[in-house]
Amino acid sequence: MTAAAPAPEAAPEPAVYTVAVRELCEFTAKHGDLDLRFTPSPSAQEGVAGHGTVVARRGAVYQAEVSLSGDYQGRLRVRGRADGLDPSAPRLEEIKTHKGPLERQNPAQRTLHWAQALVYGWLYCQQAGLSELELALVYFEVGSQQETVFTRRLSAAELQAHFDTQCARFLAWAEQQLAHRQTRDAALTALRFPFADFRTGQRPLAEAVYRGAQAGLCLLAQAPTGIGKTLGTLFPLLKAGPAQALDKVFFLAAKTSGRQLALHALDQLAPRQALPLRVLELVARDKACEYPDRACHGESCPLAQGFYDRLPAARQDALTGPAPQAHGPWRLDQAQVRTVALRHQVCPYYLSQELARWVDLVVGDYNYYFDASALLWGLSQANHWRVALLVDEAHNLVERARHMYSAELLPEALAQARRGSTAQRFAPVKKALAQLRRQWLALDKAQPLAYAVYPQVPDKLLKALQQCSQTLGTHQAEHPTEFDPALRQFYFDVLQACRLAESLDTHSLFDASQPSPPEPGRSRLCLRNLVPAPFLAPRWAGAHSSTLFSATLQPPHYHAQLLGLPEAHRTLEVESPFEAAQLQVHTARHLSTRYADRAASLAPLVALMAAQYQAQPGNYLAFFSSYDYLQQVAELMAQTHPELPCWSQSRRMQEAEQQAFLARFSDASQGIGFAVLGGAFAEGIDLPGRRLIGAFVATLGLPQVNPVNEQIRQRLQVLFGAGYDYTYLYPGLQKVVQAAGRVIRGPGDQGVVHLMDDRFARPEVRQWLPRWWALD
Ligand code: SF4
Repeated sequence: MTAAAPAPEAAPEPAVYTVAVRELCEFTAKHGDLDLRFTPSPSAQEGVAGHGTVVARRGAVYQAEVSLSGDYQGRLRVRGRADGLDPSAPRLEEIKTHKGPLERQNPAQRTLHWAQALVYGWLYCQQAGLSELELALVYFEVGSQQETVFTRRLSAAELQAHFDTQCARFLAWAEQQLAHRQTRDAALTALRFPFADFRTGQRPLAEAVYRGAQAGLCLLAQAPTGIGKTLGTLFPLLKAGPAQALDKVFFLAAKTSGRQLALHALDQLAPRQALPLRVLELVARDKACEYPDRACHGESCPLAQGFYDRLPAARQDALTGPAPQAHGPWRLDQAQVRTVALRHQVCPYYLSQELARWVDLVVGDYNYYFDASALLWGLSQANHWRVALLVDEAHNLVERARHMYSAELLPEALAQARRGSTAQRFAPVKKALAQLRRQWLALDKAQPLAYAVYPQVPDKLLKALQQCSQTLGTHQAEHPTEFDPALRQFYFDVLQACRLAESLDTHSLFDASQPSPPEPGRSRLCLRNLVPAPFLAPRWAGAHSSTLFSATLQPPHYHAQLLGLPEAHRTLEVESPFEAAQLQVHTARHLSTRYADRAASLAPLVALMAAQYQAQPGNYLAFFSSYDYLQQVAELMAQTHPELPCWSQSRRMQEAEQQAFLARFSDASQGIGFAVLGGAFAEGIDLPGRRLIGAFVATLGLPQVNPVNEQIRQRLQVLFGAGYDYTYLYPGLQKVVQAAGRVIRGPGDQGVVHLMDDRFARPEVRQWLPRWWALD
């Protein structure tokens, strides 16, 4: 019996790279200067409405949003949705909305639009078997509702030649991306945890993140300081990446320190060899700009001039040139991006935004994913990326997101804008601003109270705002180089207010705060977001998985409801690695720090702090609810205990002063640093061992009771049935726990925390303090 000859092995299918039409054309057909002279663009709603208007004007056979795709040499798949098609003509349309005169359009922009239309043209010809096709670029002006149409008739052969040229230009890059991805995924699959073992608490966190990524879930993880949360979330997510076919991981941080911790943790992943993982740090424009006094266009900034001509070489250099470092990931941090950018004479800030398309992991601020016009969110949507999110220090996200979706209009800003529009050619602007001022005055005159909330933006005021937005936009389009900075800023404020007014609902309110004494026309108007959930929910839904982590996420339902986490989200509370014996927690039941009791509290506070210091000399932090209170206690301490070294936080401390404050906490020093709760020294600082042995917390951290907070309380009571807790108690205790958390930073630390207010003895307060604390 002879063995059957083995069947020949089938050759593996070559990998196909998929690219969106827009992405392909931006890569191959963008040339010339970077030009970000502000030209007013339609809002998202205006854009959608404009497309709808054009489509409604076409005949019954007209089709909108036609999905098309096609392959090039079996190695590249190009796909996208053409805006409109009239199969009876046949004619394929690319619709673009704009504001202001079309003549102002950058010619490079038109070239790019034609490139897209031609690619769609070939995809349709191929699909429908046509020999020629009419293409139209339809520019729709949202103000006048006028269309300007440019047409071209091209043969299928011409369209194919164009398609082939674009694809050929992109193919080498696509194949390099594919090869990189295979190498990356193989390396991540083989990746081992870089230490002999996980720290206590780190393993359950890592396992939960891994399972969350596998199941495509959102995880809200409270994990104490000191267990290595950054590495404990990055490592499992990267390990899960290849099996989940993740395109990108976004590590989103509230502060610079969080970004740096992430970059450090990524370096630790491969301390002895190179890791083929491209990591990009995104920083704010003012931190990356080389010419802060210039504007972002070729006539002003040399790094904007010819930006797109030099971009391909800079991109290639950044991603495939000399390795940024011998070990660890391919780290494109701020310094490295700057080095490459200057080597090629392109803007570092905009180079980093381009690189975001081609890297594996981005480390950046929350804004880059959660903001209304967030870069990473926009790219993820346009390119159908499968992304996973890590949200660092997530207890900050409620406040940060509220800010992203609020708009404030200040009377001083309007006055400045009016001063910047006195010249004759500003006549329409002047008129629109004057009308806005009249409506503002009318609102104030009709408002008997210092503070009032309105069910919606009053009709006449809204119309005046919309008129302002339109007039300022038109003026900007007509005079792009001579716009006054104050006028421009006011224009942005008005735009943001108009956009938010369109979506005003129970998640936000519109209020007006009068100065004291009231003065018509001097109120501050605010579209104030209270519940960012409706704005953030699509962001969670758009990610394959998300992990929000922090040491203070109590109670989880507060964060889940305000942040709009998916119903199916999971929660995790990681046990603290610290023992109760490491931290003595004392509650001063004889003290009240309520506003009415402040004067009486000074002497007992000072006595308690001095007694603790004398019993156990060392470094302490003392936290207060305000600078005034801090000052009063510090003065009494200096009078009664001049021998006790003390130093205080002051308002608006510069970075160097903050460093000097922290430098006083050394292994050899002794004394008390006075700080405000919720300030720069109440979270995100690390003073291990003898550098900090105790903290005094002279406040419950409750936000001030004022008309705005009372409105928030009422609204949150209606929405969630927990107005007081959601407005005052939980945000306050979060700050207390963060501040007290400065004391124990490692397994060898010992310390003491004094909670100096009788309310800390209440069960409804104690239930939200860390479980591992042994409360007296
Ligand atoms: S260097 Fe500054 S001014 Fe120049 S393009 Fe970049 S961000 Fe704009």
